[in-house]
Amino acid sequence: MLRVLREHNGLKKCEIFSRINIEIKEIEKVLRFLEDEAVIFNEGNQFFATPKDYVYNENTYNELKQIKRNELKQMQELLNTKECYSKFIVNCLDDDTAEECGKCSNCLGETIFDNNIDLADMEDAQRYVNGLIIRFSPRKQWPNKKYSGKTAIEFINQEGVALSKYGEVGYGELVKRDKYENQQFCDELLGKSVEVLKNIIKVNNITALTFVPSIRSNIVKNFAERLAKRLKLEFIETLWKKDAVQQKFMQNSAYQCDNAFNSFYIIDGVNIPKNILLIDDIVDSKWTLTVCGYKLMDNGAEMVFPFALADSSRSEK
Ligand SMILES: [Zn+2]
Repeated sequence: MLRVLREHNGLKKCEIFSRINIEIKEIEKVLRFLEDEAVIFNEGNQFFATPKDYVYNENTYNELKQIKRNELKQMQELLNTKECYSKFIVNCLDDDTAEECGKCSNCLGETIFDNNIDLADMEDAQRYVNGLIIRFSPRKQWPNKKYSGKTAIEFINQEGVALSKYGEVGYGELVKRDKYENQQFCDELLGKSVEVLKNIIKVNNITALTFVPSIRSNIVKNFAERLAKRLKLEFIETLWKKDAVQQKFMQNSAYQCDNAFNSFYIIDGVNIPKNILLIDDIVDSKWTLTVCGYKLMDNGAEMVFPFALADSSRSEK
């Protein structure tokens, strides 16, 4: 980051994002840290390097690390302590005058909350989780102006749908298992997808289904073919993918968008239907679906409906 800032006389945050392949949150942390160390400063909305050299204070950082490790250890000890919980915590905060509270489970010698789970409740919870459908709004802004001369995206996807949260109880678990262990998505996921998509197809006059291609595996293509058959939609290959670094290694929007934009292309001469479903297995930054949808609409589609088996993004969409 310092090298990049030194090469330029002032950079805005978004200009830094497009030059460094690091998560935005991390970049912001580093910026704050470097500002505290006075090796950079911030004026208006730009960041500049100062003439001061950055010195790595190894001893200080190690001491801080040790303090944090001790705190973590105390938290782990708290889980297993037989002492009064309240007293234990107050002692950790350097107050040794605390007395036993008389109210916690250790003082009372009995559990306060029931640990037994009712089977019927478990089934209810399972049903609830399986009924969760994640809807994600389409991206409307490019990270910068280099794609179409402005930041507003001209062709925007329809609202997207994901069946599950990746890896979580229920369908999310199946997606993870099938992707890495079975190389084929199971019929249970197919059935649920059919159920969720039926109505969307009817309401929006969708006639065809396409998918996000992959170089490494045919798992999405295979699923999309089966899905099209079950939904009685035309199955159509519209996109091809150039070999590129996997999207999951792109750490921020500028890189994710760029990587997707330069990886996916429309197959020459393909006739793209007006209203089309776009299938992928996992949605994270949404840039792959955004870019594929954009290119489909730039080549004849009118409405693109993204659908993914699971959503793996960490933040709310
Ligand atoms: Zn107590």
